[in-house]
Amino acid sequence: MAGSIHVVCGEMYSGKSQELARLIERATIADRRVMIFYPTLSERDSTRDIVSRLQHLKPVVICPVAYDVDWSRVDISRFDTIALDEAQFFSNAVVDAVKDWRQAGKMVLISGLDLDVHEEPFGPMGDLLCLANTVAKLHAVCVDCKGQDSAISYRMTNQDEQIVVGESEYIPLCFDCYYRRKSAH
Ligand SMILES: [Zn+2]
Repeated sequence: MAGSIHVVCGEMYSGKSQELARLIERATIADRRVMIFYPTLSERDSTRDIVSRLQHLKPVVICPVAYDVDWSRVDISRFDTIALDEAQFFSNAVVDAVKDWRQAGKMVLISGLDLDVHEEPFGPMGDLLCLANTVAKLHAVCVDCKGQDSAISYRMTNQDEQIVVGESEYIPLCFDCYYRRKSAH
């Protein structure tokens, strides 16, 4: 029987990693064996939270891998459920891997930023969202207006690269506040 793909996405501080952790805990209650992958370049607080919250659970294995890991060489045969945290940082090769896992009957749980700071789909997240059986978009509160849901992560520093790791430089903003800050530059 085919498996399934579930994506939880949202801005910085939207709670997506906590939601991923909740889904993983739920899977373990159903006696599923879970392998969690996260990219080594992302030693973020959110990932550390997941590790500290889940590492005591017996059927859970947590494995940092290179963002461009050769997934065909990663042995997931002992696991029913594959989880990806900070999935936006993986190379596009993860898209085919996720399809293979679903075909092989795995449940795939994915957490990641949907948009980068330039309002573009972040890494493989656009493809993963299209492939998903279910999608949840979570939101933080905009830190500028403190009223609207946030919609995008804004970078306080002026770097152009898509990937700048270091979460203190990012804030969640609604689009009104995002466009206001962008046009002020
Ligand atoms: Zn706002």
